[in-house]
Amino acid sequence: MCLSIGIYYEPNLKVEAEYACARLQETFPNIISTVIALMEVPAAAFDTATGQYDVNFLLELLALQQHCDKVIWIVGHDIGDIWHSYLFGAALSSRAVVSSARLRCLESLAKEVCHETGHMQGLKHCKNLCCMRKSWTTEGVLTKSMAICEACRDSLKGVSQEWPSVSYPATCTSSV
Ligand SMILES: [Zn+2]
Ligand SMILES: [Zn+2]
Repeated sequence: MCLSIGIYYEPNLKVEAEYACARLQETFPNIISTVIALMEVPAAAFDTATGQYDVNFLLELLALQQHCDKVIWIVGHDIGDIWHSYLFGAALSSRAVVSSARLRCLESLAKEVCHETGHMQGLKHCKNLCCMRKSWTTEGVLTKSMAICEACRDSLKGVSQEWPSVSYPATCTSSV
């Protein structure tokens, strides 16, 4: 069975979501990604103590929308948590949030969507210039690749028997 990934997006980020969706399938041929629906970040997600939208709060909200194996939410707000003054993205095993607030080019945003998707599949950070390289700056995101390196691909092969695969159903099962 393929891994279905559903993408939610905030207002004005549909183009970004569609672009990331396409790049995601190029980077990970074992998944089928679908842009699902618009979802706005509620004001309640703002943490006045940190001055950021709380990424853990957003990850919790995302659990309510989980109609695919894994879900990603592309948001326009700047995100962080008590340990990080800002984050490009964050992932749990089946949910991820990526922020476009500091990643203004389509390419960079899509790289971080691929990065968090790698984490959701169990990949750790990688020292090669692949998308699993950890980036703290926008320049760091620009210089790494959208693709995954051979070492990362090999560790994915260990967890995914579907890698690489050729034919999948075209949609994931979403009721939204
Ligand atoms: Zn990471
Ligand atoms: Zn790698």
